[in-house]
Amino acid sequence: MHTKTLRELSHALHHKHISSVELTSHYLQRIARFEPELNSFITLNPDAALLAAKAADQAIHAQTHGPLTGIPIVQKDIFCTDGIKTTCGSKMLANFIAPYDATVVEKCHQAGLVMLGKSNMDEFAMGSSNETSFYGSVKNPWDLSRVPGGSSGGSAAIIAARLSPLATATDTGGSIRQPAAFCGISGLKPSYGRVSRFGMIAFASSMDQAGLMANSAEDIALTLQAIAGFDPRDSTSVNQPVPDYLATLNQDLTGKTIGLPKEFFAGLDSDIATLIMDGAKELEKLGARLIEVSLPHVHLSVPVYYVIAPAECSANLARYDGVRFGHRCSDPKDLLDLYQRSRAEGFGAEVKRRIMVGTHVLSAGCYEDYFVKAQRVRRLIANDFHSAFQSVDALLGPTAPGTAFKLGEKAFDPVSMYLSDIYTIATNLAGLPGISIPAGFHKGLPVGLQLTTRNFDEATLLNIAHRYQHVTAWHKAMPEYVA
Ligand code: GLN
Repeated sequence: MHTKTLRELSHALHHKHISSVELTSHYLQRIARFEPELNSFITLNPDAALLAAKAADQAIHAQTHGPLTGIPIVQKDIFCTDGIKTTCGSKMLANFIAPYDATVVEKCHQAGLVMLGKSNMDEFAMGSSNETSFYGSVKNPWDLSRVPGGSSGGSAAIIAARLSPLATATDTGGSIRQPAAFCGISGLKPSYGRVSRFGMIAFASSMDQAGLMANSAEDIALTLQAIAGFDPRDSTSVNQPVPDYLATLNQDLTGKTIGLPKEFFAGLDSDIATLIMDGAKELEKLGARLIEVSLPHVHLSVPVYYVIAPAECSANLARYDGVRFGHRCSDPKDLLDLYQRSRAEGFGAEVKRRIMVGTHVLSAGCYEDYFVKAQRVRRLIANDFHSAFQSVDALLGPTAPGTAFKLGEKAFDPVSMYLSDIYTIATNLAGLPGISIPAGFHKGLPVGLQLTTRNFDEATLLNIAHRYQHVTAWHKAMPEYVA
């Protein structure tokens, strides 16, 4: 059952070949078998999941179902879930139970999806390996001695191990695409404003975006249809109609132009470059035209991001003060002691590093030199994409500079960790949609190919990715250990 596509599962459920209770139980059994080793969940929700599955079966029986009714999903633990713990991977929120659902969660419920649990993640989504989680590292199902990527490492491992057919994730600088690449799955970061951020715990608000992980672009298209759209509760949500993603999924690629940014290939490991170029050639065979393009400021994206993201996070995380919610130290002697010890105890090392950097770059005297300058360079990076999209419909390159690294390998070297997002961060700075899809293996580990399109053009992104997956089988490969 766990090797079927979403369309096949949907067909089997809605023609009553299986029930949602059976399907949900199947995934719960897989979770029981593999989760003790993978550590991909923070909270499991088996009883509520079976109740939701029962309700889905009733809806199917009553013919009131939609295309996703009865299909299991996992929510990244950054999305607030009414009555169920939401930790954001932090000790700070270890006991936090939100009084409402995030819009994404609400829309999943409305679509009849069955929530299996909440996935493990880097603390407050800060990280590229899942090692900053208070709940321990997640292991990569392709090699248990390696990281799954981050921050959505739990969701990525869950999809790779077929512990759920669908998972939500978020991406501020690569947290959907990089773990998708490391785990050999498909991961979509929609355009900024396409999917509501309401109820999604904030890290760097001008870049945070909710998206999806699954085993194919088609599965993502089906689900994006349900979660995309305007939300008056998110002031940065954009009021644009949601197109029918399935209608254009199979469109012929003849006439499409795909740009290869030369900066993404200069210095890239030659084996990875070969796999990415093989992917580009597949698209050429399907009718697309390949041209070289340049994004002259893209090399500045990591330094710019590590000014803007910490600045925004230092402001966003000021709310965790031990007073209103979150961890509170014991026996504070006064208000200052309460603030200081609650934050010192509740946050991990990476979060503290970012708060300190962020506070520094926003301080009087530094603000102009760092924060304002970073915003100016951000504009130049966005303009580079804008110019490239005058002549191309999509950009293609690697998702990450390497494959999944060993647990512990970069844990004490933040700069080397930050560089693992070198190809994904610019997309967030420019607010564009991006997808990572599996494009082969290097020394037995998955390699991801990244596509980026114009703002709000997820339809083209999914169309190209789907056509590619129609003629390749990388996305069907499964780690031996969980087969
Ligand atoms: N790895 C990047 C960081 O640590 C991006 C994280 C993300 O996209 N949430 O900030």
